[in-house]
Amino acid sequence: MATGPPSPIRPAHALPLPFRPSPLDPVHWVSKDFRLLFGGRVTKAALDGGASCPNRDGTRGRGGCAWCDPGGSGPDDLRPGEDWEARLRRLASRALERGDAGVIAYFQAFTATYGPPALLGEILDRAASVPGVVALAVGARPDCLPSETLEVLERAARLRFLWVEVGMQTCRDDTLALLNRGHGFEATRRAAGDLRERRIPFVLHLIAGLPGEDEGDLARSHGAALALGPWGLKLHPLHVVRGSALEARWRRGEVLLWERERYVRAAADLLEATPPEIAVHRLTGERPEGVLLAPSWCGDKRAVLGALQRELARRRSFQGRACPPSLPRNAPGQEDAPLRAGG
Ligand code: SF4
Repeated sequence: MATGPPSPIRPAHALPLPFRPSPLDPVHWVSKDFRLLFGGRVTKAALDGGASCPNRDGTRGRGGCAWCDPGGSGPDDLRPGEDWEARLRRLASRALERGDAGVIAYFQAFTATYGPPALLGEILDRAASVPGVVALAVGARPDCLPSETLEVLERAARLRFLWVEVGMQTCRDDTLALLNRGHGFEATRRAAGDLRERRIPFVLHLIAGLPGEDEGDLARSHGAALALGPWGLKLHPLHVVRGSALEARWRRGEVLLWERERYVRAAADLLEATPPEIAVHRLTGERPEGVLLAPSWCGDKRAVLGALQRELARRRSFQGRACPPSLPRNAPGQEDAPLRAGG
């Protein structure tokens, strides 16, 4: 690791709640935390650091998770011949030129924590040294966080604010097996415990509308996620992308996808049950035309968020409204968790 000035940023669990959601401003978007942390607007630079995935190379499985595209859900706007570092430098300098506080180097493609821990450390070190990089984010399968990797992440977190994006998706093991995920919910529970122990903030990803799952399943997965003490959550509807294993099943008519209104209602329910301290990182799926096959409404992020806004306004509701006032910060059972998103 290169030496550099330690990040002046306090860890996420020390953050005060940046505001209290209300009917007028109903969602605790993570951008509010970013402004508090970095003093201005920041954007994410989605990067492909060259990692592979154990669910594709045969270590855990082959073919990948059913929803994953051949690019490992990596950035959609890569320039041919541009490596991750050149891309990061370009995006960071552009952000600084337009007056942003900086960028987040987000190693998104495939499983960024899969591979030699020393190599990951080197990559994070190089990313942290790029002018304008204010934070590091690392995408991980929960079963790809061995202690050596956690140590690397812990060290990198001393250079820049760092968090880990963990693909939980659902708490139902049968759904995870059906979708060829290659691990069960227990892996997420273990990973969350390890991250909490090291005080590394993490964001859990959930998918709404997985095959065989309904709103009740989503609510149970959401409750299970909250009980693990995340800094933030990401939610998106199940969608079919070109080249994924799901594509063939969908073309055979075996996959029923939710309508937009159903998703919006479920997302609003979920927000109401999300404590105000939890930072919301995403509430839609985003894939460009040509990659996204269905449902078509998923391609219009603005329309989905607009519909969600209207649904919350119709209910005069907001994030955390359904949380008991006596448990404003964390989910039941998490009162003693070492990592909290709010004071
Ligand atoms: S979603 Fe992640 S874990 Fe699953 S196949 Fe794609 S890269 Fe691998």
